[in-house]
Amino acid sequence: MLMFMIICLGLCMGSFVHVAYCRYLPTLTPCQYLYHISVYRSACPHCHHRLNAWQLVPVVAWLILKGRCHYCKAKISCRYLIVELFVAALFAIIYFDKGINFQSCILMLLGCYFLLLAFIDFKYYLLPDLFTQPLMWIGIMLAYFNITNIELADALLGIFLGYLLLKIPATLFYLISKKEGLGGGDIKLLAALGAWLPYTLLPLLLFFSSLLGIMYYLFLRYALNQNITKIIPFGPFLLISGYVLYYYC
Ligand SMILES: [Zn+2]
Repeated sequence: MLMFMIICLGLCMGSFVHVAYCRYLPTLTPCQYLYHISVYRSACPHCHHRLNAWQLVPVVAWLILKGRCHYCKAKISCRYLIVELFVAALFAIIYFDKGINFQSCILMLLGCYFLLLAFIDFKYYLLPDLFTQPLMWIGIMLAYFNITNIELADALLGIFLGYLLLKIPATLFYLISKKEGLGGGDIKLLAALGAWLPYTLLPLLLFFSSLLGIMYYLFLRYALNQNITKIIPFGPFLLISGYVLYYYC
């Protein structure tokens, strides 16, 4: 019964993550964005018809409507379904593995937060301060109140080390090539992750994320035959590696 409730919660949170992603625009101020995600009721992206309560039920509504809008019959992306199922699966794994406690609740919330941030970076090549700053401050607060197993001094050291680990190579690259090789958001994200993880793990985090980034590049270049001249988002790989390390540490 509890597992069923956890899965339903995961589906709802997945649905919320997708809505929060769709409603994000780089031009919005933090207040406008919070207003957008909390006040407006969801509408069809094609005909803009507001959705009924039953049409908001995750997965079930998509299956009943066979992936089409109830009003204009336009196709609804299966990404809605995939995100909802992914978050539900993540919640189920965390519950199965760790049970219900404070740590598993944090893992569930962080999973949703990281997923949203990764989607935004993939779409806009942007890791807004709106997301990375609260991540850092919450990490510091949890350490201050001794809620996680990171002490406050270690969390602050982690932030400093995380910042330097990317700031130094980014500065060197800029001095040599006169081109920006790494976004400022990536540097702030690694600094924020430094508040959550033991600082000794940060070089490993950077190694794993670089490895994932290289694999992603090779996949685009050789498996999908894309001629890549544009930039590649690095944030999603920092987030994946950071989450896996946090899960196991
Ligand atoms: Zn429609």
